[in-house]
Amino acid sequence: MSIIRITKEFRYEGAHALLGYDGKCRHIHGHSYILYVTVSGAPAQNCGCAKDGMLMDFTDLKAVVNKNIIECFDHALVMRRDAPLAEELCREYRNVVMVDFQPTCENLIGYFAEVIMKNLPSGVKLHHLKLYETATSYVEWYAEDNV
Ligand SMILES: [Zn+2]
Repeated sequence: MSIIRITKEFRYEGAHALLGYDGKCRHIHGHSYILYVTVSGAPAQNCGCAKDGMLMDFTDLKAVVNKNIIECFDHALVMRRDAPLAEELCREYRNVVMVDFQPTCENLIGYFAEVIMKNLPSGVKLHHLKLYETATSYVEWYAEDNV
């Protein structure tokens, strides 16, 4: 039985500010994020079910990521909870996501990995994630690096 990887691409627009950082990302600004989600496992074989031959229906993978990540982060401002004005912005706008970490690409992908792993069906493993912050910059998370 072969182990197969399947990947789905997601896109969302998001803003962030990096408290205390010494570069352009210090101030509130936006990125067009692209997230690749790759899961692995053995496709169902002769299961007599509607998903025969599939590891995970792409529709189901899309639903997991949309519900738990994209709906929350798309067109949202991600800020550290302890950033100046975070509480006020959160009260005034409905699209402020407050997190307990610096919202860098590296920290976001680690957070996304935890959320996705919790919501995958049994027999399907998160293999890796790739998150583009700009057209030329991306970070990766691999399960094998995080055992
Ligand atoms: Zn940035």
